[in-house]
Amino acid sequence: MNNELKKYIETVPAVADAAALKETFWINEKKRKEKDWNITEVCPDQIKDAADRLKRFAPYLKTVFPELEKTDGIIESELREISRMKNFLNEEYSAGIEGRLMLKMDSDLPVSGSVKARGGIYEVLKHAEDLALEAGMLKEDDDYSILAGKEFQDFFGKHTVQVGSTGNLGMSIGIMSAKLGFHVIVHMSADAKQWKKDLLRSRGVEVIEYQDDYCAAVEQGRKNSDKDPMSYFVDDENSQNLFMGYSVAGERLKAQLEEQNIPVDEEHPLFIYIPCGIGGAPGGVTYGVKQAFGDNVYCFFTEPTHACCMMLGMATGLHDGVSVRDFDIDGRTDADGLAVGRPSAFVGRVVEPLVSGIATISDNKLYDLMRGLLKEEEIFIEPSSCAAFAALIRPEDMQDCIEREGLSEKMKNVTHIAWATGGGMVPQETRDAYLKMGL
Ligand SMILES: *Cc1c(COP(=O)(O)O)cnc(C)c1O
Repeated sequence: MNNELKKYIETVPAVADAAALKETFWINEKKRKEKDWNITEVCPDQIKDAADRLKRFAPYLKTVFPELEKTDGIIESELREISRMKNFLNEEYSAGIEGRLMLKMDSDLPVSGSVKARGGIYEVLKHAEDLALEAGMLKEDDDYSILAGKEFQDFFGKHTVQVGSTGNLGMSIGIMSAKLGFHVIVHMSADAKQWKKDLLRSRGVEVIEYQDDYCAAVEQGRKNSDKDPMSYFVDDENSQNLFMGYSVAGERLKAQLEEQNIPVDEEHPLFIYIPCGIGGAPGGVTYGVKQAFGDNVYCFFTEPTHACCMMLGMATGLHDGVSVRDFDIDGRTDADGLAVGRPSAFVGRVVEPLVSGIATISDNKLYDLMRGLLKEEEIFIEPSSCAAFAALIRPEDMQDCIEREGLSEKMKNVTHIAWATGGGMVPQETRDAYLKMGL
């Protein structure tokens, strides 16, 4: 390890813990109030643009995915109170959670069963729209259900979409692109599960497997795509489109909370906990909810101890200039959706004034949490998704955060939302195997 990195180990306790593979909690000293955000990389108009685009596509989505009929073509998940899980966390982990605990069930998002159904599908739709508009085949005020016709299938069939993935991003890009008629190639890292590769192949997606990690799969995918002028690469390491697809969740969540008569204001803070891989999903959701709720929402990212790239990137300020391997951390985790060694090139910088803190969790705890949620609430989520509870089971660190923010008196009014990021499409045999892990 070079001397510069050693300096961080000596001066930042969370980095020292991370390098020692210990669970930890990093509090973001660079978090700012809304009036001092000063974010220049992205702007709120982009969220509206993304939300409008998803509305234009709703008639098409409803046509090709019958499961979207009941939501009129909008891909959205349920927000459910999980009070028995709250009791479980308080009893088993002395979590001391006050207020309400809810689960945002992106684990059951239609079409691809993970949070990637937000960003991934959005990016594919945007690309398809760009191509069709440019070719003069589509106008923005058309009824987009025409996109289901043969003429468009043939047109998109001349184009290729490629992506590198640990699994879930490949699923959402693969399923959506194949449905539109694109030729799709998904470059899967060694962490990707067999059933995801099988499912994609069954839908006509070309899957290329790598023995290497996520970054290697992305790099190869990018190279392949760059060689082919008819190919588009979904770039998880840099994509603003993915980010904006995720950020639409902010206004949607606001509407859901209003529907359920759950207040969010200065006296009723909202705490959100989201598992983080490369950062796009938690970053985009954070940006979206911060636009929706301002200073009244507090966002926490959660990562596996062996793949805590965002924490290292933000805590050192080096962002994508650092990888877990630079700290001799192997990047290996059962939380396949989070098995990323180097954070996004832009997300960490965008969320620097927004995120309250990052908690890490060891793999063995993920399975206990998975069993707990299933037993208490009859909800299954995948290992990556269980990381959503990582901060909630560190009451002393949470207390620190709460005191710093001056929220001690308000905690009984808090709504906590654990963001369940995946699990809906996991086959029964795989679920059964997960549920026996670490027993
Ligand atoms: C991808 C993924 C995440 C994190 O998203 P990033 O954009 O990689 O940070 C979290 N949970 C699951 C289940 C995922 O598939």
